[in-house]
Amino acid sequence: MVVRAGREFLAIPGPTTMPDEVLRAMHRPAADIYGPELIALTDSLLADLSRLFRTKGRSYIYIANGHGAWEAALTNVLSRGDKILVLESGRFAIGWGDAAAELGVEVEILKGDWRRAVRPAEVEARLRADTERRIKAVLTVQIDTAAGVANDIEAIGKAIRAANHDALYMVDTVASLACVPFEMDEWGVDVAMSASQKGLMTPPGLGFVAVGDRARKAHATANLKTPYWDWTAREGEEHYRKYAGTPPVHLMYALRAALDMIFEEGLENAHTRHRLLAEAVRHAASAWADKGALAFNVTEPGERSNTVTTVLVDGDGVAARLQDYCKSKCGVVLGTGIGALSGKAFRIAHMGHVNAPMVLGTLGVIEVGLNALKIPHGTGGVQAATKYLGDNVPA
Ligand SMILES: *Cc1c(COP(=O)(O)O)cnc(C)c1O
Repeated sequence: MVVRAGREFLAIPGPTTMPDEVLRAMHRPAADIYGPELIALTDSLLADLSRLFRTKGRSYIYIANGHGAWEAALTNVLSRGDKILVLESGRFAIGWGDAAAELGVEVEILKGDWRRAVRPAEVEARLRADTERRIKAVLTVQIDTAAGVANDIEAIGKAIRAANHDALYMVDTVASLACVPFEMDEWGVDVAMSASQKGLMTPPGLGFVAVGDRARKAHATANLKTPYWDWTAREGEEHYRKYAGTPPVHLMYALRAALDMIFEEGLENAHTRHRLLAEAVRHAASAWADKGALAFNVTEPGERSNTVTTVLVDGDGVAARLQDYCKSKCGVVLGTGIGALSGKAFRIAHMGHVNAPMVLGTLGVIEVGLNALKIPHGTGGVQAATKYLGDNVPA
């Protein structure tokens, strides 16, 4: 017996559900990449990406996933032997740092752990101790998708300036751009990167980097530059050069449709929607965690992210059984625990094209699974979520 039918619902933190508008935008014949329509499309995307990152600086589009955009960010501003500081808060900043190490950069990790956000005071203290100013860049993620933790990018920026340190501030916004506030210029971020398939509701395959003035200065002397990632090679008027080759035509149309939807909703409204839906998820998870086998991974409530919630599950194989039930019986795909949380957690994504029925449906299915599998848990999760939304989304 199953209660699934039709389209499977993805509640994984990327790739995320794509709106029909985005899917439809790609259904078109091959285009003339030298014609005015495509050139105007590129110009609009680059301008709107900078608008999303909230920077006066220039943005670049790569045919790549987030890992590619990581490499683009690193190679354009660093040189072999440079030292960087990576702020640990789960998995993704560490992964970015690993890429830097393979490129020949010396990587120091500011220890954190999987259950909490980066502490800005620790960043300031470490940078103050760098009296020789060897650290050339500080890498962090806004939201760590594995841990479900949100870092305070503004506060970390302030900590870097309070230490009077001139390291570049580089931020991964793959799991946060367009979902939660990000203020590249105001928060002193020098390089920000993102990708298409999470908050931006677009197929995987596009990576984005936005660049501030200080990063552009570092770029002039960076020796890790390679032909494909190089910002300078992508400047100038020729359309083909802006992608270092053939433009990703259909993904560009998809991204255009997604950005149109985001701006039509209004960026602030999109942030509010994410916050409300995330809060609903947290109300449910907190009821479940009241007793039994479930718990929030992130211990500090204020550090839980508005795009993904990581729920720890006690017991060998229990998380996997729950995920399997939700998928095979109810057609809802939950995220798995990854990295240090492999086999010990599931994740609920609430980023991008999400609304109340999607989130409440997902929570309901999880509760069905918890009951069917007799996993001990506090009751009333869905009720807590609906009550929260009823109380906070005024008539
Ligand atoms: C998903 C993700 C990445 C990696 O992106 P890919 O497109 O899978 O390469 C990097 N950073 C964060 C925060 C992510 O959530």
